[in-house]
Amino acid sequence: MSVVSGPVRVRFAPSPTGYLHIGGVRTALFNWLFARHYGGQFVLRIEDTDEKRFVDDAAADIMASLRWAGLDWDEGPDVGGPFGPYVQSERHAEGIYATYSTQLLEAGLAYMSFTTEEELAQMRAAAEAQGIKSFRFRGPERAWPLEQQQEMAARGRPFTIRLKTPLEGETRFQDLVRGGDQIVVQHTQLQDIVLIKATGMPVYHFAHLVDDHLMQITHVMRAEEWVPSTPYHVLLYHAFGWNLPVFAHLPVILRQDGKGKLSKRKDDVSTNRFWERGYLPEAMFNYLALQGWSYDDHTELMSRDEIVERFTIERVQPSPARWNPDKLKDLNGLYVRRLTTEQVAERLLPYLTKAGLVTDPPTVDERAYVVSLTPLIHERLVELSEAPDLLEFFFREPSPGPEGYDPALLVPKKMEAAQTAELLRAAHEALSQVEIWGIEQVEAALRALVARLEVKPGPLFGAIRVAASGRTVAPPLFEMLVALGRERTLARLERGYTALG
Ligand code: GLU
Repeated sequence: MSVVSGPVRVRFAPSPTGYLHIGGVRTALFNWLFARHYGGQFVLRIEDTDEKRFVDDAAADIMASLRWAGLDWDEGPDVGGPFGPYVQSERHAEGIYATYSTQLLEAGLAYMSFTTEEELAQMRAAAEAQGIKSFRFRGPERAWPLEQQQEMAARGRPFTIRLKTPLEGETRFQDLVRGGDQIVVQHTQLQDIVLIKATGMPVYHFAHLVDDHLMQITHVMRAEEWVPSTPYHVLLYHAFGWNLPVFAHLPVILRQDGKGKLSKRKDDVSTNRFWERGYLPEAMFNYLALQGWSYDDHTELMSRDEIVERFTIERVQPSPARWNPDKLKDLNGLYVRRLTTEQVAERLLPYLTKAGLVTDPPTVDERAYVVSLTPLIHERLVELSEAPDLLEFFFREPSPGPEGYDPALLVPKKMEAAQTAELLRAAHEALSQVEIWGIEQVEAALRALVARLEVKPGPLFGAIRVAASGRTVAPPLFEMLVALGRERTLARLERGYTALG
């Protein structure tokens, strides 16, 4: 029997403090999959109450990243919904959080705290000096009647609102991913956390919880880093007398070497970067689904629909996932190869435009040309952003010399420059007589030349490859020459032998 029953509502609640970390997309994806699999709603909520860390445009950027990954939301800032607004600063402006913090103050479950930041710092330092490892703040105002707190506030003293965390007892909660065992925390391990800052802004712990309740969120699926804060959230739910949502903390993603979490600082994990590098969203979708979830112990390649159908919370693992860029690359290569030539060409165009190889927007001829070039690189393409480099010489003339490639590259091993020039001249001659510029004809002409000159094909073809492309590694030779066209091929061969003197 499934552990999930009834209609589900989940949310992804990013803070617009910068670009979206790929781990954030994984969290969003799992919520999305959960909603789609169990037939519920996926809500996007922007948690922008941390004014210090707020970054302009980050929310738009986050939404663009989510859309790129193929995720859509049923309710959110841009699409609206019955529980809006979906941006916390707007909810704050409507007085939503103040209503609920007042409720807790009046019930004596929270209090106004007049301890300043400096005083707190001093208390912490004093505790440290006494050898107390973790300082747990409990304000003296816990014991004050509300009137006394209000009087103090009326005198203009700035205050925060803190949760009156019980001094004794314990809090338990269950986590759907971490198994049926209850997580238990002793209240002596907790402190009176801030709910509302001196500026009047709610902190995350308070705002997200009020919103989850009002938005009727049934399952809170979020990063594992929130487990230690969850007891506070449970206490808050109890304080309000609200039903608890089901918690499901998703496993952390470790760095490739297993040493620590994938981090914004150390790793290249901005979603935009993967996008720029030319990862296909469908490959990323597939890869991220496997970061903490599996269908069985071997199936990796799965379509979006298959993943939706197979995604059950029971198969989300509690143990850490491990980031594996090579696997992501492999998967991307597989997805690229499954696209048709036209589809790949279409996806390459933005990269070629950006590199200035085709115009923006590309002309009909440019499009057609890119379609004709695509088969030459389709098989070995892993990241689409490699395409401009792989295809550059089809758009720009490679020249031997200081500005271009090193003419020494033309000379095969164990051969002299003069000899190589001879070969290139002979190739020029042979190719200039090819009437129909097709793959078979070009190949036949060059093979006949090999026979006539009694040389090995390797060195000859190598020299032609360099002359035609300016590089030693290039697409298959005959196909490449045909794609270049007769005139350009001949001109490049000529420049090659001329450079060799
Ligand atoms: N705003 C929080 C974050 O960005 C959301 C955590 C949660 O999902 O509850 O990490």
